[in-house]
Amino acid sequence: MSTSASLSGHTPAEPVGDTAVGSVTDRLVEANTKYAAAFTDPGMDARPVLKVAIVACMDARLDLHAALGLELGDCHTIRNAGGVVTDDVIRSLTISQRALGTRSVVLIHHTGCGLESLTEEFRQDLENEVGQRPTWAVESFRDVEQDVRQSMQRVRTSPFLLHTDDIRGFVFDVQTGLLREIESA
Ligand SMILES: [Zn+2]
Repeated sequence: MSTSASLSGHTPAEPVGDTAVGSVTDRLVEANTKYAAAFTDPGMDARPVLKVAIVACMDARLDLHAALGLELGDCHTIRNAGGVVTDDVIRSLTISQRALGTRSVVLIHHTGCGLESLTEEFRQDLENEVGQRPTWAVESFRDVEQDVRQSMQRVRTSPFLLHTDDIRGFVFDVQTGLLREIESA
């Protein structure tokens, strides 16, 4: 038995050499065991109840369900670094709309995003380090509002989506918890 990590407490995991004793993943698996013990099949359909897909930054301070009053089964959540609309986000939105019946898209960036402190030089730095340039863009930005507008535009102009008439964009303030809506260009 691990003695370093209390599964019910908040003691940080302690890596020991190449093996983590009481690693964070072990904690997650333990939490899941408890979750499943209390879980009853809600008998839900996979189609989101509110017919909405939310594209948001992966930032750990953004609890989408709590911040937006969402319940299990209500929406699709598509998250990545920045909440930017990449080809892969369009892929998910396309499946969301065409296979699973969503109609609305909500885009959420936030204050203090890590993408604001990166530049596309990040790719060159990576190439210098590992000898290979990534195929993907960093999608860094300086102006969060402008990036929300660009993201809305990318969704609106996608040829693959069925529904582009209800697309709205917001900046979530990580200090107040409030959303601020950004008008599209
Ligand atoms: Zn972010």
